[in-house]
Order: sequence, then C-alpha cells, then structure tokens
Amino acid sequence: MIKRVEIAINASDKNNKQALKKALQSKFGKSANITGFSIVKRSLDARQKNVLYRMHVDVWMDEKPSETKLQAFEYKNIEFCEPIIVVGSGPAGLFAALKAIELGRKPILIERGKAIDERKKDVALLNRGQVLSENSNWCFGEGGAGTYTDGKLYTRASKRGNVNQVLQTFVQFGAHPDILIDAHPHIGTDKLPSIIKNIRLFIESCGGVFYFDKQIVDFEVRGNRIHRLISQNGDVFEAPNFVLATGHSSSEVYELLHRKSILLESKDFAVGVRIELPQFMVDKSLYKNPSDIGVLPPAEYRLATQIGDRGVFSFCMCPGGVIVPATTHHGFQVVNGMSNSLRNSEYANSGLVVSVSQKDILAYSKEGALAGLRFQQQLEAKSWNSVPAFQAPAQRVDDFLLKKRSSNLPKSTYNPGIVSTNLWEILPHFVCQALCDSMAEFDGKIKGFNSSEACFIGVETRTSSPVRIPRDREKFSHPQLENLFPCGEGAGYAGGITSSAMDGINCIESIVNR
Ligand SMILES: Cc1cc2nc3c(=O)[nH]c(=O)nc-3n(C[C@H](O)[C@H](O)[C@H](O)COP(=O)(O)OP(=O)(O)OC[C@H]3O[C@@H](n4cnc5c(N)ncnc54)[C@H](O)[C@@H]3O)c2cc1C
Repeated sequence: MIKRVEIAINASDKNNKQALKKALQSKFGKSANITGFSIVKRSLDARQKNVLYRMHVDVWMDEKPSETKLQAFEYKNIEFCEPIIVVGSGPAGLFAALKAIELGRKPILIERGKAIDERKKDVALLNRGQVLSENSNWCFGEGGAGTYTDGKLYTRASKRGNVNQVLQTFVQFGAHPDILIDAHPHIGTDKLPSIIKNIRLFIESCGGVFYFDKQIVDFEVRGNRIHRLISQNGDVFEAPNFVLATGHSSSEVYELLHRKSILLESKDFAVGVRIELPQFMVDKSLYKNPSDIGVLPPAEYRLATQIGDRGVFSFCMCPGGVIVPATTHHGFQVVNGMSNSLRNSEYANSGLVVSVSQKDILAYSKEGALAGLRFQQQLEAKSWNSVPAFQAPAQRVDDFLLKKRSSNLPKSTYNPGIVSTNLWEILPHFVCQALCDSMAEFDGKIKGFNSSEACFIGVETRTSSPVRIPRDREKFSHPQLENLFPCGEGAGYAGGITSSAMDGINCIESIVNR
C-alpha cells in the first residue's frame, strides 16, 4: 500500500532520513510497517520562529517500495528524418530540438552566438567591463540567456505544459535531483553551462545538427510559407518547418519581421531597476530566529503592490547572487541578476519593476508594433550614455527617494563598476514615482529596503518581451506564415527558462501533429 502524506520537519533535518522516518512513524503509529518512503515535494516555511520543511511524502507500507524512475530521453537516430529548422539555442530551441528527436524529426539548430567554451571567454571579458561581442554575451550563444541565468526553474505557467518533464530533462543532463522535489528549484550559473553542453552533445549524437556563429538576417517567402533563411555570411537554410526561438534580446529579428511586413504586436511589459542589499538584511527580516541566519539557505522574497493602476513588483530575485551586465548591443545598457548553485555571495538582488502599458508606450513612440521596443531602447540608450562603457548608473535608495545623487555608493557585486547617478534623470517619471510610492510598504517586509544600505542599479528593462509575434491559438504557427512557429520568450508567449522550454516542446508537438 502507498499513501501520500503531508508532513513537517525541522528545517535542520532537511536531509536527515532518520528524522523523517521517525516523523512518519509517529504519524502512522508505532505498529505501522513502513517499508520505504520518497519525498515528492518540499518547501521551506519560515513564517514561525521554528522554521520547517513542509513535505509531501509517498510512504510504502507492508510492501516492497518501487523505484522512482527518471523519465529520460532515449537515443534515437534521426539523422535521415525530416528536418525542422530551429533558430536559437536557448531553452525554447533546445527543448524543441529534444522533442523533435523524440517525435522522429531531425532538428537543425542555428545560433548567432558561439558554443559554450568560446562563449565563456566573451562573457568573462564583458564581466570585466572590457569588450562586448554582440553575438556572444550573457544572452547570446549556446543555451541562449538560459546558460548564464540564475537557473531558477519555478514557473507559474504550469498549465502550459509538463513542468516535471522539463525538470527531469535537466536532471538527466546533469542537474541535481533535488530540483525535482524543491518547491523553488534552482540550478545555478556555475552548473548550467555543462548541462547545456550535455544536451547539445546528446542532440548531436542522435543526428541533430548545430550551426554556431550564424545569425539569421533574412528570409524568403513563397505564398504563405517561409521558403528559406539566410545567415549574415550568405548561408541558406531550407526545411519544411521553421521554429523561431530567438529570445527577446534579438531586436534585429523584430526589425527584420517588421521590414518584411510580418504581423507583430506591441505588448505590455515592465521596467525599473535592480535593487541590491546585503543578504543578511533579507535573512534578518524573513528568519525570525537569529540563529537560523547563515544556517538556513539565504532567504528569498517576492514583493508586489499596486500603485493606482500600476503594478510594482520584484522580479527574478537572486539570493546570494550578483548583478551582471546583460547588455547585448553597443549603446544600450541593461542589467540582470544571477547566482551560483551555493548562492554564497553576501548580497541579494532582484529586479524592482513597474508595469508599462500601451498608453505609456505610445506617449514615447508612435512606431506601432515596435513602439515598446523603441521605448525600451530609449531607456537603455539613456542609461548607456549616462556612464562609462559597461558600468551601471546607481543610487542609494534613500537618496533616490529624495531625488538626489548619492555622494558615495555602497559596495556592489556589479563587476564592471557602478557610478553615482540620479536615476530620475534616466527612467520615466511614472516609473520613478511608482517605485517611490512602493518603498515604504516593501520596507515593512524587508527591513532596510528603503535605507542607504540598499542600492538601485539601472536599468532593468528586459523583464519580458515588448513585442509579440502572434500565432494561431491552436496551431502555434504564425497567422500569415503557416510554417513559421514563433516560440519562447521572444515570441511573447513565455517568460523564464521552464515556460520557454515548455513552449518549445508545444511548438514541435503542434508541427508533428499536423
Ligand atoms: C542574467 C539572467 C538571469 C536570468 N535568470 C533566470 C532565472 O533564474 N530563471 C528563469 O526562469 N529565467 C531567467 N532568466 C530569463 C531566461 O534566461 C529566459 O527567459 C530564457 O532563456 C528564454 O528562453 P528562449 O529560448 O525563449 O530565449 P533565449 O534564451 O534568449 O535564447 C535565444 C537564442 O536565440 C539566439 N538568436 C537570437 N537571434 C538570432 C538570429 N537572428 N539568428 C540565430 N540565432 C539567434 C540567441 O543568441 C540565443 O541564444 C534570466 C535571464 C538573464 C539574462
């Protein structure tokens, strides 16, 4: 007999099997013959002084426990099967390729950036504030923006696909199995590159093909179908179907589609800053027992409020993380955040952003479908011009509230360097005002959030895509071009690693089902 039960144990006993067995035994009674158990989900509950792990556990009684098997992709030779061209090797593109193999198609991945080992060097140069390669950086290259992300895999889009399948795939290719049970699974930037490389090697071993350093810059249409794609160096790629998984940082793709009169839509998104503060301030606010600080994992927060008709919210919180230069194009400055698997930096950061509606966007640009993109670019350009190359404008939060430049700045994890700047001169007034109006409420939750120890670092503009490449609800293909399947974050239908991966899977299923 198997029973699924909910149980709570002291956080310090997270990995203590004896303690868990004892708790289960006392739940079922001394006479119960527990033969085995397996944790299905676990989450940290820090609402009380005594911090607990709440767990869902499958318990076997009076019978031999069955082994939980990882659902794994199996090798399949698809070398001579019908090809599907996938542009972009981020989570959407890679998971699309894996699904294609599973369903008997040959994925051909075309990527503007470099393979991981080469890309690593470019990322290091950018991180030192030295050189930006516009094809190989924090966002472009093997694995897309997914490779150097924080690797948080939690998604609220669980209805859009099989989250567990995505997590199991990451485990198959090298992620720690804990991600299968943690409520907020996290891999870490230090672990992701080798996982992504393993996925590529698997795809190649099955007969899939990768082309790196090939930026798609043009395409030809015949009737209502894409006929072929053309790369920057004149290579031509043909196939019956094309998956467009180019992410939301590749503005050239939106420009190209727009130039070719392909239907696009401007969409709402959010902009603001990254806020950085010492991790111990977050821990102190969220762990009620001081002795837990440094023992329990660095605490996470999620903040949200409404100021009039605007949402103000934290985004992509990185406990024990660092802020990184996520810029992709010269002249446009943007930051993002990530952390290693141990989350062991002394700082916490998160995006702190304000929703931007079409009404706001139209006040800045009249460019129809690309109005949101122009709005985003204007902010990034202003930010770039306000500081030396690759550095980031910054302001202590208490100074921001008083609209004055900081006379000095706290230490920051942003490696290329931060420069004291009045962010009111960069961000639109409505964004600054909404941030200002939210800070007292947020400070009530994380003590010190609006103090001089917390620092705003700009600008956070790529929370989600400002453009949607529309597609037919059921068929996943573009309404004008029946063999073009826009997917992932760049298509405006996903945000984050897991939902982009699921979107890639869905697109391939739709292609094959047709
Ligand atoms: C620093 C950072 C931290 C993040 N942390 C997290 C996190 O913890 N959790 C989370 O869920 N999300 C996180 N994200 C967001 C996440 O990375 C994205 O949501 C996700 O990668 C989107 O997947 P995608 O496949 O749609 O696009 P992308 O990952 O952006 O991949 C698109 C790929 O297409 C390629 N490409 C673009 N244009 C062309 C072209 N013309 N020709 C050929 N190739 C092209 C690009 O080089 C890129 O490799 C983070 C992002 C960043 C930058």
